Amino acid sequence: MNNKALFKLGYGLYVLTAKENGKDNGCIINTCMQVTSSPAVCVIGVNKQNYTHDMIMRTKEFNISMLSTDASFAVFERFGFKSGRDSDKFKDFSDTERAENGITYLSKMTNAYLSCHVLEATDYGTHTLFKAEITAAEVLSERESVTYNYYQAYIKPKPPKTEKKGWRCKICGYVYEGEELPEDFICPICKHPASDFEKINNNTDKGDNNMDYKGTKTE
Ligand code: FE
Repeated sequence: MNNKALFKLGYGLYVLTAKENGKDNGCIINTCMQVTSSPAVCVIGVNKQNYTHDMIMRTKEFNISMLSTDASFAVFERFGFKSGRDSDKFKDFSDTERAENGITYLSKMTNAYLSCHVLEATDYGTHTLFKAEITAAEVLSERESVTYNYYQAYIKPKPPKTEKKGWRCKICGYVYEGEELPEDFICPICKHPASDFEKINNNTDKGDNNMDYKGTKTE
């Protein structure tokens, strides 16, 4: 089996937001698809390590903001590379509005948002698949949606030249210093597994983003 075949699947990138006891939170996901249009039902896949996941398990409500091609890397850093457990992801961030369900959505760098109510949560080990009824939806701009490949090619900064020896996370650029990367290593910044790391070769490292080696999940 060639796992690289899975890298050919197409993905979008979305900010998933929830609210619980007055606390707003959000994370980046790459798995959202429409199941039926009548009734309007979608499914999303969410890594259980995300605090937003736990909030949705309890509240059954969420919004999906669809990122567009003008999204900055800062948005991915803000919502993708740190946990909402111990930080306020909306601090000093004004590009949001509140939908009718009371949950925030991103009003800039996005082209649409959905408000959803969970119908079913299915456990898939590392992830939960939420099937949800779409209760509200609005178009915010006519810009193109960001795909995972677009993010890798045009939004993620080129990795800086480094004298460090080791392994670099292809998702966020974190460098693990060491000859061998432990198989069960999880990136401390973006929580991606060892399979999303590439060995740094200082002789041939041109600092290019590698479009062919897509990460498995961007949470
Ligand atoms: Fe990372």
